[in-house]
Amino acid sequence: MNQPGRYSRREFLLFGSVAGQMFGWIPWFRPKDVSLAGARFQIVHTKAPKHVKLPKRRYLLIHGDEETARQVLVEHIKTRRATSYIIDSKTRDVPIDDGKIDPNRMFSRFGAQANLKRLNPNWKPEQLTAALDQLDARREHLLHDLLPGGSDLLVALHNNGEGYSVETEIPISDQRSLKEPDNPHYFFLCTDPDDFQVLSVSPYNVVLQQHVRAPDDGSLSRRAAARRQRYVNLEVKQGDANRQKEMLNWLEAHLP
Ligand SMILES: [Zn+2]
Repeated sequence: MNQPGRYSRREFLLFGSVAGQMFGWIPWFRPKDVSLAGARFQIVHTKAPKHVKLPKRRYLLIHGDEETARQVLVEHIKTRRATSYIIDSKTRDVPIDDGKIDPNRMFSRFGAQANLKRLNPNWKPEQLTAALDQLDARREHLLHDLLPGGSDLLVALHNNGEGYSVETEIPISDQRSLKEPDNPHYFFLCTDPDDFQVLSVSPYNVVLQQHVRAPDDGSLSRRAAARRQRYVNLEVKQGDANRQKEMLNWLEAHLP
C-alpha cells in the first residue's frame, strides 16, 4: 500500500532525483523496495498516458547482469500502467551471508538448497541450514508482492547465452508451439493455458508450464504455476534489444 509517511523527506527527494534520472519523467510514483536475502528489488509504479486504456501489468527483472532486458524494461514501462520490480544488482547471483545465490532459485527451500550447494561448495551443513532458514522466514513476504493473486499478468524479462534455450524447457512443458525452431534462444514461457492459446498464434516460440512435473528448481515460474498466477517469461539472447522489444510489443498488443 501507499505509505509515503514511512519515508523521511530527504529519502523521498533522494529517490525522486534517482528515479528522475532513470525515467526522465514519472507522472506518479511511490518509493519502496522489497528484499529477500541480498536480492533487493526497487519497486517502480508507472501510469499510461492519459486517455490510453491499458491492462494493469506487473514486470520483473530478476537477474542483474541481463542488461538488455533491463534497458528494454526501463524504457517500456514509461508508458505502461504497471508495478515493476527491478533488482538492485549488476550480477546474476546475489549475496547471502558470506556466500551467494541465484535469485531465481530462492522461491522454494528445495530449489534454494540445490543452488546454494552448487554456488557455495565450501559451506558447512549448518551454514546451509542457516541460509535456508533465513530464506524461509522472508520468502512469503516477497512472493506476496510478486504473486499477489488476481488476474494481472506478471511479465519477467530475461536474457540468455549459450547454455539455456527453449530446448531445455520443452521436455517439462505441457504444450509447445515452435514457430522458430532454428532460434531456440527466443521464446515465451507461460503458466496460463489461455495466455498460451494467444501466444501460440504469434510468430515466436512458446511453451506452457501449467503442471510442471520436473523437480522444483526454486524458480518463480514454478511458484506462479503452482499458484495459478498468470506469468510469462520473455527470453532473448543478451544484446538483442530490438527482438526483445518486438516480442514484448506483440505480447502487449494481444494479451489481455
Ligand atoms: Zn534470467
